[in-house]
Amino acid sequence: MGYRTFIHTLYQMVDMAHNKLLVIMIDGISAEDYALSAARLPHLRGLAERGFRVHNLHAEVIGVSLPGRTSILTGATADVSGVYANYLLEGDTFRYATPDDVRVPTLPARATAAGLDVACLGFGMVRPEDTTLFKAPWWAGETIQRGRDAEPQPASPGLLRAARHDPGERFREMCQQAGLTPDQPVFDTFPDAYKPFFGLVADHWMADRVGAVATAAAAPDLILTEFLITDSFQHDTGYRSGLAQWALEQADLAVGKILQRLAAAGVLAQWHVAVLSDHGHSPIATALYPRNIYPGLTMLCEGSFLLALCDEAAQHAALTAALAPYGVQPYPNTCLPPELRQRLHTFVAPQQVAFEDAPAGSTAHSGPPAMISSHGLRPGAPGDDRFALFAGPRVPPGHCATAAAVQVAPTLAALLGLSTADYAAAPIFMPV
Ligand SMILES: [Zn+2]
Repeated sequence: MGYRTFIHTLYQMVDMAHNKLLVIMIDGISAEDYALSAARLPHLRGLAERGFRVHNLHAEVIGVSLPGRTSILTGATADVSGVYANYLLEGDTFRYATPDDVRVPTLPARATAAGLDVACLGFGMVRPEDTTLFKAPWWAGETIQRGRDAEPQPASPGLLRAARHDPGERFREMCQQAGLTPDQPVFDTFPDAYKPFFGLVADHWMADRVGAVATAAAAPDLILTEFLITDSFQHDTGYRSGLAQWALEQADLAVGKILQRLAAAGVLAQWHVAVLSDHGHSPIATALYPRNIYPGLTMLCEGSFLLALCDEAAQHAALTAALAPYGVQPYPNTCLPPELRQRLHTFVAPQQVAFEDAPAGSTAHSGPPAMISSHGLRPGAPGDDRFALFAGPRVPPGHCATAAAVQVAPTLAALLGLSTADYAAAPIFMPV
């Protein structure tokens, strides 16, 4: 190697070292919740104070979890990415969305193609083959059971492939070098009453492994991870309930553990850290039971959104008329991929009203909600807005009032040193 090449390579190495990026998604933390809670979140607040804060990051339409994650990964709206709800229509039924449903390149795929070393540690909607190190989300197993699901849901093939993916010897060695076991606790061994706490343990388990991987001698350039249980506690116990606030404090502590490991290893200054949510949360007062209001159609309840399969125009008209007395309005279905718009129609409920399945045996049209806090509201409702923080060597200190969902992925790409030319939107800020 000539002197000039050597120096160039050295500069490249230094430059790469300044492009490392850790993305932490904390599920279901609204812009308002973060703002009201920041005094109790010293680690997140510390990132905000030395970095860049988006006060109200708008949610994807529909503002639910898997579209939210997909938006973070792709910078594409749901009609383009293909992930428009947590469940997607296949034939005449809905099934759980999987990473294989994402139709456009994801950040990990772009980064891997650019020769970067990419780790997904539990972030949903990432394909194993788009990474160099992959550990499935704890909630994706042979069945899917997030903290709020009453019953396990069958996992679709795309999620099964992720769940069965062996994270490999490199992951095991990185854990062991940090003094941690690579073996994850198994959900099935926890009694039902402890399932929310299992989720909490699982989030912390993953945070420790993120710290181990990020401080390894050959740490990846990009790490994506998520903490999920904050969302479940809100669904079950209410928006900003005592338990929900405690769960958010736990997420802050988990972020703090990662930052502490980075600082102790002397590598904190190399890392950009992006912490953000997938959507907000807000109180729900009433549940509507659309299958009781208009039986016989295939429907999907997603917060205040209802998706209904109406192959005939007359069905759509009749459903619209049946829902109208409850204040439910048809909503333009341009948030769906074009090929679905003839069949699949969207409706939105009034404020503080969500769609749910009726309790077993009930013929009522409405009732008290099982999930007393939720999301997937009428687009533009501030309750769906979420928080977002960015910190690191190339993040300009500052803040902005709002940003669009599609701006997140190009911002992350820019921090990684990847091209942002073919994203539909501009980054929230340009790295310095
Ligand atoms: Zn979510």
